[in-house]
Amino acid sequence: MRYVSTRGDAPILDFGDVLLEGLASDGGLYVPDGLPTISPSDLADFAGLEYHEVATRVLAPFVAPSLSPDELALMAQDAYSTFTHTDVVPVSGLDAGEHLVELFWGPTLSFKDVALQLLGRLFEHELARRGSFMTVVGATSGDTGSAAIEACRDRAGIELVMLHPAGRVTEIQRRQMTTVDSSNIHNVAIDGTFDDCQDLVKALFADRPFRERMRLGAVNSINWARVAAQTVYYVTTAVRLGAPEWAVSFCVPTGNFGNVLAGNVARRMGVPIDRLVVATNHNDILTRTHRSGEMSISEVRPSTSPAMDIQVSSNFERLLFELGGRHGAALAADMAQFRAENSLILAPDVQAGLRADFDAGAVSEPEVAATIAAVNESDDRLIDPHTAVALTVARRDAPTGGWSTPMAVMSTAHPAKFGDAVLEATGRQPELPPALAALADREEHLTALPNDLATLRDFVTARCTR
Ligand SMILES: *Cc1c(COP(=O)(O)O)cnc(C)c1O
Repeated sequence: MRYVSTRGDAPILDFGDVLLEGLASDGGLYVPDGLPTISPSDLADFAGLEYHEVATRVLAPFVAPSLSPDELALMAQDAYSTFTHTDVVPVSGLDAGEHLVELFWGPTLSFKDVALQLLGRLFEHELARRGSFMTVVGATSGDTGSAAIEACRDRAGIELVMLHPAGRVTEIQRRQMTTVDSSNIHNVAIDGTFDDCQDLVKALFADRPFRERMRLGAVNSINWARVAAQTVYYVTTAVRLGAPEWAVSFCVPTGNFGNVLAGNVARRMGVPIDRLVVATNHNDILTRTHRSGEMSISEVRPSTSPAMDIQVSSNFERLLFELGGRHGAALAADMAQFRAENSLILAPDVQAGLRADFDAGAVSEPEVAATIAAVNESDDRLIDPHTAVALTVARRDAPTGGWSTPMAVMSTAHPAKFGDAVLEATGRQPELPPALAALADREEHLTALPNDLATLRDFVTARCTR
């Protein structure tokens, strides 16, 4: 398998390079130059396999020749043994007939773990193979930070520096990060906002000598390995709900478009997926683009589903590349225009492709709360606000007579992670799972720093130099 950039002007790489590189040198994102196929008989075989075995079968072609299937199998088994549900990604039914795909049984209780638990192991393996090391630097407003820390803690060859805005993440989210006691994990509370943290990280990456000396790397959602790892639960869920005989549809709460893009990849590989429904909160750039054909940025407004409070969905570029017929130079020109004008009108065939392959809907905050309350009432069960965004769209936007296939709704976080919003909507406080309850008594490890680049650079150098 070879990987090409969506902007057509970066070296063609194999999996190991793409894994460590992240962003392509032309500013584009790496995608495979062709997809492997999953046949109906593969799907029939998968019914009898464990999650990590399906992961190995589905992912082996993506990681070859950098990794052998046997090496991958060991990493997948180890990664998914950290999940506390025996099915890894179980599927449960709701009274009204939808299915919830429970993506929150990993160490930090959000769907980020499904990809990052594998990614940390892939990094460690690839770095060892090269005799190399990397310094991962990231900024987080919540979920990604703790999932990245759990993925990288104690891994040879990796130092991880995670910035968060002091006082602006929830106590649970902070403790999930700062109570990790590993010598290669460095939490930094910046006296500033999340945007300040992101600007500091960007400035570190822009300092070329520093970047090369420290071998800076990222675990952000544009890494192809994350998208690939997320295709696996589309496969296992489809099989559980009747594939290869029957098709299934998915509704996906969406921010950076990584999760739902993985669904589209699974469909293109041959998994019988009918509708893919993109669900956004009131930060609705994707829904507006789907409806009007114009992608235009507007102000981010905070919501109860903060992992989806974004302005631009970075992985959407990968879809535009496919829908536009894989013309890198043309997409590069489009993205330059989008950057300059904060707006881009998609070509008519791209618009048509988007509407043919996806549905989309945006949800208001009162709708989110009403759905959380409705499920508490009908099913005596609590769902988190991100899940509620998707379930609202799956219910509200169903065609007359209902969806023509089973509808699987991606449940991306444990309700206890967003307990305040759940309490507000239902009057019930979600019970903290043992892993979270234990955090209250643990010692925190973090360094408070001012919003200052030179100070941060010195800190990273002092902590991470080998
Ligand atoms: C990251 C995240 C999302 C959004 O996923 P994307 O891949 O960015 O679309 C949704 N829900 C939760 C809980 C998340 O952490």
